[in-house]
Amino acid sequence: MKLANEIVQSILDAEKIVITSHKSPDGDSIGSSLGMLRFIQALGKDAKICHPDSCPSFIEWLKDGVEIVDFDESQDRVISLMDEADLIFCLDYNGSNRLGKDMGGVLLAADAKKIMIDHHPYPEDIFHLSASHPEVCSTSQLVIELILKSGNENLLNQSIGTPLYLGIVTDTGSFRFSSVTSRTHELIGKLLENGVQQAEVHEKSFNHNRLDQMKLRGFAIAEKLEVMVDEELAIVSLSEVDLERFNYIKGDTEGLVNVALSIEGVSVAIMMTESDGKVKMSFRSMGSIVVNKFAGDHFDGGGHMNAAGGISFLSLEETIEKVKSLAPSYFGKTDA
Ligand code: 5GP
Ligand code: MN
Repeated sequence: MKLANEIVQSILDAEKIVITSHKSPDGDSIGSSLGMLRFIQALGKDAKICHPDSCPSFIEWLKDGVEIVDFDESQDRVISLMDEADLIFCLDYNGSNRLGKDMGGVLLAADAKKIMIDHHPYPEDIFHLSASHPEVCSTSQLVIELILKSGNENLLNQSIGTPLYLGIVTDTGSFRFSSVTSRTHELIGKLLENGVQQAEVHEKSFNHNRLDQMKLRGFAIAEKLEVMVDEELAIVSLSEVDLERFNYIKGDTEGLVNVALSIEGVSVAIMMTESDGKVKMSFRSMGSIVVNKFAGDHFDGGGHMNAAGGISFLSLEETIEKVKSLAPSYFGKTDA
């Protein structure tokens, strides 16, 4: 059977469905989860979304009454939902560690059939069915393909399409990255034909910035941005004190790493934010320069060639020093 049909048949056969996605949710993980939930509902079934931690505030509006059960807040509830499920969707991630250690353990222990739909390279072999497409810009695009390829285009409507549209927008930097193809635009066309109000999605997601958030971003660029390694590497680092000064909330630094990458001559940008004694790292690069290997080799992370994440358990200063000492051999100018 075609994979798309097999996935839809699994939905129709299931009694209790849970949709999971990765830690530190972004537009694609929230968008693909909500789009999948509403597709499942359109098929006459229901599901619960369980995520490791809370949704960033700029896309809270997308939930529109849907409950996302958050492992950080409601651990016991997530455990019982996953234990009792007979089908678990694993969206926008490729291995159990992307749920965090504890929720990852719950996934591994669950008896449910596990279906991965994802666009990160090197998936783990822990899923019963895998739709793994690293060449595709976003998981949200893959959910639209699932709907079309399973012969359910007639179900596509504004409620399913809106979160999927947002997922594509955020994972492609608003259609800028090389992962965008003519197929992406074709599918966006279908979303618009079926009622998605794109101007409204942009307005609701990106025109509600807080003054403190803007000031934090200005401060980060003015005071905390360094360019090094033959001016090819940009680092932005924000300490816990910096974040508190501007009343930081989750999502406030979203996209800042891409601002650093936009500097003339810069081909790698790294954003570091300190929280609870750890440093969360975001890596971005241009063209053939690969950052997921650097993130995986040294910062317990991974991701895509040009967009990756990781974590450091050193202090912020020590993390900056570590990057400075390792970066030249990864990212310095070469003759190649
Ligand atoms: P971001 O910088 O936006 O948090 O993440 C960029 C990309 O790297 C995303 O595709 C995300 O899924 C992936 N990523 C972020 N953090 C981690 C991590 O700790 N481990 C792995 N394997 N991938 C990550
Ligand atoms: Mn994604």
